[in-house]
Amino acid sequence: MKGKIVLEEHVTTPLNNSLWDASGEAARNGKAYMENVDKRLLETEQRIADMDSSGIATSVISLTSPGAQSLLDVNQAVDFARQTNDYITEHYVGKHPQRLKAFATVALQSPRAAADELERAVKQHGMLGALINGYTNIGDNNTAQYLDEQPVWEFWDKVAQLNVPVYLHPREPLPSQRRLYEGYPSLVGSAWGFAHETATHAIRLMLSGLFDRYPNLTIILGHLAEGLPLMLPRLEHRLNMQREGVGLGNAEKPVSHYFSNNFYLTTAGHFHTKGLLDSISEIGVDRVLFSADYPYESMHTASEWFDKALISENDRIKIGRTNAARLFNL
Ligand code: ZN
Repeated sequence: MKGKIVLEEHVTTPLNNSLWDASGEAARNGKAYMENVDKRLLETEQRIADMDSSGIATSVISLTSPGAQSLLDVNQAVDFARQTNDYITEHYVGKHPQRLKAFATVALQSPRAAADELERAVKQHGMLGALINGYTNIGDNNTAQYLDEQPVWEFWDKVAQLNVPVYLHPREPLPSQRRLYEGYPSLVGSAWGFAHETATHAIRLMLSGLFDRYPNLTIILGHLAEGLPLMLPRLEHRLNMQREGVGLGNAEKPVSHYFSNNFYLTTAGHFHTKGLLDSISEIGVDRVLFSADYPYESMHTASEWFDKALISENDRIKIGRTNAARLFNL
């Protein structure tokens, strides 16, 4: 399929590389793999060549995880977000404006500053929304602020006004909460821990009442919504049975309502037709978007699977291109 749009595609910046200690990732993911990833995160021409040979017209790029979310100092995080958005605009999007678009980096260490930076990034740089790498550390790396928590609603207020999507991207669980993975370090990240962390974060959003207050919010989840299409029906069933109906938390409606009305999902890093068909049947084909997760995944692997997946040609065009074009007004 030609003309595809992908939207969980990552870059880095010299500033991010200077602050981020990648030794843990190299140990967990393998040195050769991470060397290849690190090289591709910083350059553009190989990316464009891979897009050309995979039938991908447009990549929506974003800073790789954990980005601003892991910076402990509030002022440093706020400044980092601004510099990152300027760098991505000048050095990546600006060089290929027809092929590359971007999600903004925001620093929720200050929800007010994150709101202002999102507005600047959208209005001045033409960014399409924000990509947030899970919870935010504030002060030390064992603290977390999740996106449903009260201080963050000031940020959501701006997101609702701007009416742009937020991509909720994974990060690794808090260092103090990894007992479950002890002895199996390869499970902490993308192989397993990412999905557990991010699916639970998304459920927190659904139960918080956020979508009752701001019904137009749009959250995008990668990796076929981190398993939620399969797990959400059981979650809803059990919440209904628990604690005389108070299992719904602060939300007015069942979780399936928010999933169907406030969420999109992408195929990033999850190239499996049975999972795709289950996702389509839970959320509807209009809310499913093709993506690769480059350079952690290969655009060729993603496209070879997707272009031949056993779905209708109408669905392939929607998932591969027109759903994203509609969502982002491209
Ligand atoms: Zn990713």
